[in-house]
Amino acid sequence: MTLPIIDAHAHLDCYKHIEIKPGWLPVTVGYSHYANIKNAAIAKQYNIPYVLGIAPQTAIKEGVEKLDSWVEEIKKHKPNAIGEIGLDFHWAKNSEDVRKEEIVFNRMLELAEEMKLPIVIHSRDAEGKVIDLLKERKFSNGIMMHFFSGTMEEAGKALDLGALISFTPLHSKERKKIINSLALESIVVETDSPYVVRTFYDVERAIDYVAEVKSLDKGVVAARTARNAAGFFNI
Ligand SMILES: [Zn+2]
Repeated sequence: MTLPIIDAHAHLDCYKHIEIKPGWLPVTVGYSHYANIKNAAIAKQYNIPYVLGIAPQTAIKEGVEKLDSWVEEIKKHKPNAIGEIGLDFHWAKNSEDVRKEEIVFNRMLELAEEMKLPIVIHSRDAEGKVIDLLKERKFSNGIMMHFFSGTMEEAGKALDLGALISFTPLHSKERKKIINSLALESIVVETDSPYVVRTFYDVERAIDYVAEVKSLDKGVVAARTARNAAGFFNI
């Protein structure tokens, strides 16, 4: 079976018009209660995989009072994975923000364990902490490090946990080094559209980036990253 090109992380709820051409498969990802509801509906309409969760930025903005009802909503929709979840020390302004992020992250991990689902991690300036937490917890349902922007050392630690590392089309020296050091079996590609690039079709540029860095054929990278993502999301 030939797999489509898979964008492992896009936010389709942010678009007015959605057109998914044959041969392309975006995974749509929630980050707040309202985005989760919208993405679940879009996923059902277009028959695409979907990931639901409460992101750390949402924890800061909306607090934790409604967490129980947010969790119930996620359970109802039976997503392919729980995400994007994690810690974000870039946006946290004080210890209260960090506390809210940690409460929500821990609850999302419990939920993933309960539902036996993998997780999609959002972490900014917090990779080390997130990896330590997952290790402590012995989380074993599958981990994807979305839009990885940690160091080589942190990528190594994530790999030790069996994580997949996801890359956007954005180039950086550190990312180039990490892509080079990783086996293709540990890599997936994504757009994080519309936040990082315009649409999920731009995932082709992430594929080009990995192919160029690793001196591999684009078709090989497209097929292998699709296989990795399909396995992870149980597509
Ligand atoms: Zn995202």
